[in-house]
Amino acid sequence: MELNIACIAGDGIGPEIVSQARKVLDRVCAIYGHTIDYHDVLMGGCSIDVYGVPLTQETIDICKAQDAVLMGSIGGNPAVSPWYQLAPQKRPEAGLLALRKALGLFANLRPAYLFEQLQDACPLSVRNGTRSFDLVIVRELTGGLYFGERKTEIIDGVRTAVDTLRYNEKEIERVARKAFEIARVRRKKVTSVDKANVLDTSRLWRQVVHALSKEYPDVTVEDMLVDNCAMQLVNNPAQFDVILTENMFGDILSDEASMITGSIGMLPSASLNETSFGLYEPSHGSAPDIAGKNIANPIATILSAAMMLRYSFGLPAEAGAIENAVKRTLEDGIRSADLMPRDAEKKKGLRAVSCSSMGDEIAARLVSPHA
Ligand code: NAD
Repeated sequence: MELNIACIAGDGIGPEIVSQARKVLDRVCAIYGHTIDYHDVLMGGCSIDVYGVPLTQETIDICKAQDAVLMGSIGGNPAVSPWYQLAPQKRPEAGLLALRKALGLFANLRPAYLFEQLQDACPLSVRNGTRSFDLVIVRELTGGLYFGERKTEIIDGVRTAVDTLRYNEKEIERVARKAFEIARVRRKKVTSVDKANVLDTSRLWRQVVHALSKEYPDVTVEDMLVDNCAMQLVNNPAQFDVILTENMFGDILSDEASMITGSIGMLPSASLNETSFGLYEPSHGSAPDIAGKNIANPIATILSAAMMLRYSFGLPAEAGAIENAVKRTLEDGIRSADLMPRDAEKKKGLRAVSCSSMGDEIAARLVSPHA
């Protein structure tokens, strides 16, 4: 199979982590007999430096012409970077919002799970002998409060700001359908999160989700208010399989979910449209504080590449091979700097490696299915 991939290395640690994901992808494709055609494009701060804007039409067109986009991360340190002297719509993050919109990426999938080998990194206390959990947040990405009309004006001499929260039933149904499809191949449970005791958009959300659930009788659906969900994620994350929610609630809950894994450098994400096309990127940002030092953890980007093989190319064996290689690397005690415990006692048997060595170690553990 030939894989056509647009590649946005981006800013900060982006180029370092994307090269490791490419190293692993190249190896898995060599083993399974696929070829990859990468199309490198600029987006974010690096695009501002070259073109004066964070996203060009050429980047959009090249991304649209491929089967998937692999991305590192974009943005700089707002306190020192000149990119943040620009108007908000000209800054690096505006490029990412516009690209998601242009590609119609309405569903954002963020898995959060605890690697067996990294249990100590989890900030939650041990309950019932285990801290294990494995959930996916499906967040609506191109509607709601972040895309509604907004304005700030003076009314009766008082500055007044308005943001508009709007959803129509089609926008709700298409993202809910993604959540049900994903639940179907997992543990068959969808928790739909809203604020239906207050918001009209949430009441419509519930009606649409429940009507659609009739097409998925094998999947259990439950409703949960967003404030309760924020508590339950800390109290008992193991109860969740797929959490389905709107844009702003999903933004907040997915950061909370990633923090309870204790390792921001480990979590991948996918943003999908109605077809198999998707944009795959780590959940973390561009980490300008460690950029260029070859110490970043590339695992989230490598696992994002595995998600790309599964969702955009229908290659679950190849995706599983990457996930197993990551697991075996951790089992062998290999750690990037962020995963090293502070406690000297707990460091025993572990080996700290650079970003590029982590890529080498994972690539070396990819084995042929016929081996
Ligand atoms: P961040 O995720 O970049 O960094 C937070 C902390 O985690 C830092 O201490 C960083 O060193 C560490 N960290 C993050 N990823 C790591 C990795 N792979 N390995 C080791 N340590 C890692 O968040 P931030 O500092 O709030 O944001 C920095 C920039 O990234 C900002 O410009 C922000 O807008 C941007 N950002 C981009 C995206 C994206 O590209 N989708 C997402 C979030 C933030």
